[in-house]
Amino acid sequence: MRQYLTHLRLIDGTGAPPVEPAALVIEGDTLVHVGRLSAADAPRPGEAVVVDCGGRTVIPGLVEAHIHLSYNDVKVIADLDLNCPPEYATLLAARNAELALRSGYTAARSAGAVHRIDMALKQAIAEGLYPGPRLLAASRDICATGGMADWNPTYLKLGMEGLALIADGPDQIRAAVRRSIKDGADVIKCYVGGDALLPHTPIADCTYSVEEVRALVEETHMRGRMASAHVRGEASSRVAAVAGVDSIEHATYASEETLRRIADQGLTLVPGLRYLYSIIENGPRFGITEAVIGPSGLRDEIKQAADTYRRARELGIRMCPGGDFGFAWNPHGEYAKDIQIFVDVIGFSPLEAIGCATKNGAELMRMQDRIGTLVPGKLADLVVVDGDPLKDIAVLQDRARLSVMQGGRFVTRNF
Ligand SMILES: [Zn+2]
Repeated sequence: MRQYLTHLRLIDGTGAPPVEPAALVIEGDTLVHVGRLSAADAPRPGEAVVVDCGGRTVIPGLVEAHIHLSYNDVKVIADLDLNCPPEYATLLAARNAELALRSGYTAARSAGAVHRIDMALKQAIAEGLYPGPRLLAASRDICATGGMADWNPTYLKLGMEGLALIADGPDQIRAAVRRSIKDGADVIKCYVGGDALLPHTPIADCTYSVEEVRALVEETHMRGRMASAHVRGEASSRVAAVAGVDSIEHATYASEETLRRIADQGLTLVPGLRYLYSIIENGPRFGITEAVIGPSGLRDEIKQAADTYRRARELGIRMCPGGDFGFAWNPHGEYAKDIQIFVDVIGFSPLEAIGCATKNGAELMRMQDRIGTLVPGKLADLVVVDGDPLKDIAVLQDRARLSVMQGGRFVTRNF
């Protein structure tokens, strides 16, 4: 039986201004009509389910572009592997997937996972065993010896492979990509740069050569997968851009030349900026010191970030919200805070920011034929919002005001 969602204010994700009053007609899991409803199109009694949405706003299902479902309440890097057995991390990941869906995120692109958890989770969600976003699963982090994810001291001989596959030189990197694809990864994640929280690889560090990252990208593309690189400083951002990594994560200190390269090659930039704001706001409660946060640390990075991403916006680089949630100071469930960053810091209008979180996310996931905008023929993945996100983008952070539909079925309905 057809479903009619009526009395809506429509934001379709294409960037078009809202349409009101509007209706959606859904058959099975697919949208068959979007927009104003003529008298001839009106549902006939007994032939359809009609849901009066009472003037609420409908937007496409949100896409989290940088998610780590298998990271949970992480306070130190050891929490990612040494301190959390894979069995327990898997259970937590399933819980986080449901939370993401209930938060309005009907799809997500992973930016790295421990063990093979993403692949198992993706399968379980696709088979309908567990609720969660449509997922692109990521590999473990491919990382150089002494790189950001190679944190445990050699003398302990832990040989841990839960978080990272350590690979040096093009041949080992190709082998690590092949192993990840064998495991079922859609996204091949690598670490090229450093991070303020990990003193063994400061922000300015670059731990792979262009030749090495080119090998990773070539091998990844040969098998039709997506390459993703964590970079922060200019040196690592440049290497990722020159090598043609599909999705560049952070790139806070990217130079004008590197940004132009990203734009010219049509690469995607995922700032993940909420992560830095959350460290500054909440980090001290979890032992993050002033040396890390202070004026020459993260406060400098967020200042630079605003300039970099505003410039990236001017250059027309495709950017997607995805805020690196899963850390104690930046917990799962607060994903839509990164959309607010797109408005408050990067300078997108609320309508544009919603497009970044829906249409752009779908393009990043290469699923734009099925999701990302509300048009006939696409899947009925959507969020009915009790409020006006164009007046207050923060309304998307209040789960009690969101009703989430995925594939034509309400996952949560709060009206
Ligand atoms: Zn991340």
